[in-house]
Amino acid sequence: MIKAIHIINYKYFFMKPVCKIFSCLLLLIFSMQLDTRAQNDNKIRIIMIGAHPDDCDDDGGGTAAIFAKMGYAVKFVSVTNGDAGHQVIGGAELAKRRFAEAQEAGKRLGVVYDVLDNHDGQLMPTLEVRLQIIKKIREWNADIVIAPRPNDYHPDHRYTGVLVQDAAYMVAVPNIAPETPALKKNPVFLYFQDRFQRPNPFRPDLAIDITSVFDKKISALDAHESQMYEWLPWIGHYEDKVPKDKTERIKWLAETRKQEIKPEVKSALEKWYGKEKAATIKNAEAFEICEYGSQPDEAMIKKLFPMLGK
Ligand SMILES: [Zn+2]
Repeated sequence: MIKAIHIINYKYFFMKPVCKIFSCLLLLIFSMQLDTRAQNDNKIRIIMIGAHPDDCDDDGGGTAAIFAKMGYAVKFVSVTNGDAGHQVIGGAELAKRRFAEAQEAGKRLGVVYDVLDNHDGQLMPTLEVRLQIIKKIREWNADIVIAPRPNDYHPDHRYTGVLVQDAAYMVAVPNIAPETPALKKNPVFLYFQDRFQRPNPFRPDLAIDITSVFDKKISALDAHESQMYEWLPWIGHYEDKVPKDKTERIKWLAETRKQEIKPEVKSALEKWYGKEKAATIKNAEAFEICEYGSQPDEAMIKKLFPMLGK
């Protein structure tokens, strides 16, 4: 009987409008606490920003897989929706397919994969897109931001580099995009490795041993079927080289995506892992520290990249 009265009173309490507001407030406070906890959980938070849905996987997928394995929070952002890179389909149909592939790749790597709805092949470094990027970096409460250098062959890659550089100071300015709270501490910004020599070549300030997760990186790239097995072979005139069999094509992908470790990357590996270990490393990803954002010393680099030296 007492129990029944309790139930009735409880129902009555929550039916009153004033109590509805009260319970909503409670929920809001609870979710705010969760959010604060997420920001203060001492996890290193990484955001990689590429132009297309597959760029981050290609340039930083191994590093992302290691971070994810260690329990750190990793997000990939594709600044365009990839709706132009295909020889047969395009527009919304292609964007939808590429979004689904990105989600599958994210699942395989253990990272969150966001795709912004900007057209592929038409990206410009506008204020509108800059604000989108500032918000993404702030919402993720990033410690590390990785993006292309602004001297790539592809205009979307180049402008993604410019857009992230343009965000590198603004993420800490409260009056810019005030609806998303500014970061209290500017993150460390880094560049993905590239092969371009002008106006200056890529400088590998740090290099990560990704040998143990190379298969995982390939598995993520394999999820981008419309790119790896259709568009890139078509535009590169090597369609006839792509095996039909699913197992065979993963092997082929691993073979063709394997990056040679250049002497300067080898030196970076020796610096961070020691000569003996560096000699055993088969696959690596290297990064250059951007002059904008927080400037880390060696101790800070080791703190942000705890896998270095291990
Ligand atoms: Zn790309």
